Amino acid sequence: MSLTRFNALQTIENRLDPLPDFESTGVETIASYFGENVFNDAAMKKYLPENAYLSVKAAVQSGQKLSREVADVVSNGMKEWSMEHGCTHFAHWFQPLTGKTAEKHDSFFTMTHDGRVIEEFEGSALVQQEPDGSSFPSGGLRSTFEARGYTVWDPSSPAFIMEAGDGKTLCIPTIFVTYGGEAQDYKLPLLRSQTLLDKAAIPVCQMFDESVNKVTVTLGWEQEYFVVDDALYNARPDLSMTGRTLLGRPAAKHQQLEDHYFGSIPERVYAFMRDLETECHKLGIPVRTRHNEVAPSQYEVAPIFEEVNVAVDHNQLLMDLMERVARRHKLRVLLHEKPFAGVNGSGKHNNWSMSTNTGVNLLSPGKDPGRNLRFLTFFVNTITAVYKYADLLRASIAHAGNDHRLGANEAPPAIISVFIGEALTKLLNQIANGKKTDDAAVKRALDLISKLPNLELDNTDRNRTSPFAFTGNKFEIRAVGSSQNCAGPMTAMNTMMALQLIEFKSDVDKLTSKGTDKEEAILMVLKNYIRKSKAILFEGNNYSDEWKAEAAARGLNNFANTPEALDVLGSKLAMDFYGKSGVMNNIELEAFYAVQLHIYNTKLSIEAKTLEEMVLSIVMPAVIRYQTELAQNIAAMKAIDMGEAVGYQKDKLKQLVKCTTTIDESLDKMLKFLDKAHHAGNVREEAEILCTNVKPQMDHIREAVDNLEAIVDDQYWPLVKYRELLFVR
Ligand code: ADP
Ligand code: MG
Repeated sequence: MSLTRFNALQTIENRLDPLPDFESTGVETIASYFGENVFNDAAMKKYLPENAYLSVKAAVQSGQKLSREVADVVSNGMKEWSMEHGCTHFAHWFQPLTGKTAEKHDSFFTMTHDGRVIEEFEGSALVQQEPDGSSFPSGGLRSTFEARGYTVWDPSSPAFIMEAGDGKTLCIPTIFVTYGGEAQDYKLPLLRSQTLLDKAAIPVCQMFDESVNKVTVTLGWEQEYFVVDDALYNARPDLSMTGRTLLGRPAAKHQQLEDHYFGSIPERVYAFMRDLETECHKLGIPVRTRHNEVAPSQYEVAPIFEEVNVAVDHNQLLMDLMERVARRHKLRVLLHEKPFAGVNGSGKHNNWSMSTNTGVNLLSPGKDPGRNLRFLTFFVNTITAVYKYADLLRASIAHAGNDHRLGANEAPPAIISVFIGEALTKLLNQIANGKKTDDAAVKRALDLISKLPNLELDNTDRNRTSPFAFTGNKFEIRAVGSSQNCAGPMTAMNTMMALQLIEFKSDVDKLTSKGTDKEEAILMVLKNYIRKSKAILFEGNNYSDEWKAEAAARGLNNFANTPEALDVLGSKLAMDFYGKSGVMNNIELEAFYAVQLHIYNTKLSIEAKTLEEMVLSIVMPAVIRYQTELAQNIAAMKAIDMGEAVGYQKDKLKQLVKCTTTIDESLDKMLKFLDKAHHAGNVREEAEILCTNVKPQMDHIREAVDNLEAIVDDQYWPLVKYRELLFVR
């Protein structure tokens, strides 16, 4: 039975006892348990013979496959390690296109042919498994008669132990592919994009330093989320079904006072955070910062950045942990991009950079004046890549939840542009306007970078409205949705940078082969790029209407909703981009596109159906009850000749009737459109109807219900109100 508003509120009142004390870390230092549940380097050294250990390290470096013999040795070491930690099961852990993670558990326990019970984990089970793939979206990659999918071990992300209650499971990060080897997850394209970028960036790095032989992408995410009490959550079918409130009138106080940001964290939430951090640290997730966000009940957690594949896995793992740890504290975490109307939504900034085996962050301007041409090269190429492939970046962050944030008067808009700050804008202008590249002015400008104080480079806090900002030594992609798998935008980012660097190298080579000096050639090419990609740079207020007009004049696209933003995935641009780069072949891309639309359609349909149910079975009965009361009151007043004193009652009754009429009509229309959508010829058409017809009706219904919430007797109102969700602790 679902809770009503009143027993939900009572439940909280009854929580007089403090919540149980969760495993306190006491005086233990984080270092004493950090990574204890990870089959990390130290564990590998201890549990693997030296040659197997070296083979795994080499495989991670080169991306080569491990032999069957080595796999057997590794699986044995993992089994020994994990059983000593209390594991009874193992699972291939993967990231299907649902955006979440999935795992299929198998027991180590088995029986030999002569009936003996043994614990076994063979190399073959480590390397490959066959989960029942039929329940995961595949966009038609798997025909019905071939539902098989395979999970294949990714040795570049360490195995870990997942603790759930008393159970402990050895989890092995894997990719998820079809029988034919096509990707049907987020991880495989990400790994391919990283390899591609590594290959493309090395020769560019070698222009400056011959000793570079490896370039890795680094990602530091910042996860925003809301926390609400679980009793209140359970009393809201919309939260439990869709992750966001479909109805609800903004509380009188929300974030106007801005007193929440960096304010003190409520004790219950603090206990949850500490518990979460401990779990993260045991799993080697280097979370470091926690703070309140702008909106009430909104928080953020961020780690120290890591190599992108591991960082993505850690974020996926974190989202999973958050939900589980919160429940122990009788709380619920909301990862949806827009759980509450009228209150800031949640994003997940992706801080992206590249670093070399020589320990250089390629987006960090050096203090050494002679070295800044390398910084400038990677900096300008990133801007150029975003200029060329902005639509693909936009598509990579398109999904139903994010539509409520992007362009909806909060950071950031749906128009992709790049913010670099005043100092670097000046520098690029100087280079672009310099007459000749050997101009002393350009050289001076370059030298100037080394003299800039960090503060001036990282001046982006002055402009939080940009979707893509340079923040001193990395780019921050701010349009990523809070619930999203970072692998999507990271794959797009790596691919576009790789393609851009390949082109850059070839442009420079063309000049040097004709005898131009190398540095001169690099500057000439960069100068040309700066001039060409100027339109993508924007330093002003990204929320303003003027920017929309100006962006349109500059030829930048503004895809306001998911179906529109995804369309580019069906274009030749996308096929060349993903296809020629080898990151996703055309079949995979087509399937990916279809799955994204399918997920969008499913989400919107669930929202519409949930709304219908809530309105008909929860809201309307309460409204009618109050309507009856008003009508009876009017009649009673008239009966005692007080008919002239019922102005207020009549007025409210009229408002009720007006709202219920709107609800009735809009609900009718919504259901007709929903039916039409479900009978559409294809997923794109269905998405169009849901987006342009169903959604506006949902908005009408919401508006009318929210108006009713303001006048119906609070004692009758059945849904937990915003002020309760957001402020009750
Ligand atoms: P803040 O934005 O709070 O001032 P930082 O700028 O230090 O903090 O970092 C914000 C995020 O960026 C963190 O997750 C951090 O790990 C990440 N980050 C810092 N340097 C890099 C880098 N070179 N590559 C990727 N992410 C980075
Ligand atoms: Mg940030």
